Amino acid sequence: MTATNRSMPASQYHYSLEALHKRYGRFGGCFMPELLMAPIQELTTLFQESKKDASFLKELSDLLHNYAGRPTPLTEVTRFAHAINPVNPPRIFLKREDLLHTGAHKINNALGQCLLAKRMGKKRIIAETGAGQHGVATAAAAAHLGLQAVIYMGALDMKRQMSNVMRMRLMGATVVEVPHGSATLKDAVNEALRDWSASFSDSYYCLGSALGPHPYPEIVATFQAVIGEESKQQCQERFSKNPDLVIACVGGGSNAIGIFAPFLNDPDVALMGVEAGGHGKKLGEHAARFHHAKEGVLHGCYTYLLQNEHGQVAETSSLSAGLDYPAVGPAHAQLFFEKRASYVMASDHAALEALQLLAKTEGIIPALESSHALAHLIKIAPTLHSDQNILVNLSGRGDKDLPELIEKGLL
Ligand SMILES: *Cc1c(COP(=O)(O)O)cnc(C)c1O
Repeated sequence: MTATNRSMPASQYHYSLEALHKRYGRFGGCFMPELLMAPIQELTTLFQESKKDASFLKELSDLLHNYAGRPTPLTEVTRFAHAINPVNPPRIFLKREDLLHTGAHKINNALGQCLLAKRMGKKRIIAETGAGQHGVATAAAAAHLGLQAVIYMGALDMKRQMSNVMRMRLMGATVVEVPHGSATLKDAVNEALRDWSASFSDSYYCLGSALGPHPYPEIVATFQAVIGEESKQQCQERFSKNPDLVIACVGGGSNAIGIFAPFLNDPDVALMGVEAGGHGKKLGEHAARFHHAKEGVLHGCYTYLLQNEHGQVAETSSLSAGLDYPAVGPAHAQLFFEKRASYVMASDHAALEALQLLAKTEGIIPALESSHALAHLIKIAPTLHSDQNILVNLSGRGDKDLPELIEKGLL
């Protein structure tokens, strides 16, 4: 235990410990090496203060408005709706996170956490990235705020996403190649945590989705809730009530929990998450965590986790790198457990078809991740009708996916 911890007043220490082990029902918590408990506690305390601090919130909202491009529009897609249900088309509204700076919702969280880092006096930002979207968002936020970014990325992912590696480097970030394990996201997280264990006195760990040890799931959900808050107001402006259904893709779960957040206590709103069905039903061929619903701990968090019969973390597969992760955020695990939200999957093939249909009917090329949410809408289209208003989180734009799709001969 560090000197700072020992000198804390007993009451505050007790409070912090409680906050540290916060759970979402049976899920969540903070299962971390003792070495990291001190910086996690420091972060917990600072976050609890900052989220109530008017000057912090004002600075963040200025950045989101003037740098990232918020608020994002709500676009009704009538031609897409007619294409999927010509008889009785529902009203479908897309929340356009694809129009944000760096091309996805990830910038909301990266700006929030880099601002927290600045408040803590940490000048070095550590992050992990899979496809590179969170790395690019973190590199941009760090550059804009005058911080140094170090991004860990699996060797295989670096090869697949060279243009994102270049974007990060152009923005001044150091990209560290991780050759171990499967050389993908899970290994990059391990390496980032290893760095943080040795560097937390001057470094901040910027986690990219609503998972990991507490308080990260809460921090990321708080910074992404702006998506839902704007959407809720925009729905009132457009059709004077709540949507009947809110649908979003679920990787770690940050864009989904962000758009679900303000509707959680509105029982008239159905919430639906769509995960990666990949290319087959066998373990290793998908990233459908809810479908298997086995509980376990990964990266500090108790949640649903794809694992084999020996409890070893399973390989996953998805055409969309952003959904290709074996665990899911603890808030979603609890929403599933409580049946407040439902979780379904869409296959690689269905997502690709949805991408093409939205592009053709509306002139919007969605990210492959977001296309999973659209794919499920297409699947249930015959059950939908014209009195329904559906809100879809279009979490990012698809330009990033084109090189890989072309290389695989899929376009
Ligand atoms: C990273 C990413 C996702 C998946 O992450 P969540 O934390 O589940 O939101 C979804 N869509 C896009 C465009 C992404 O870049």
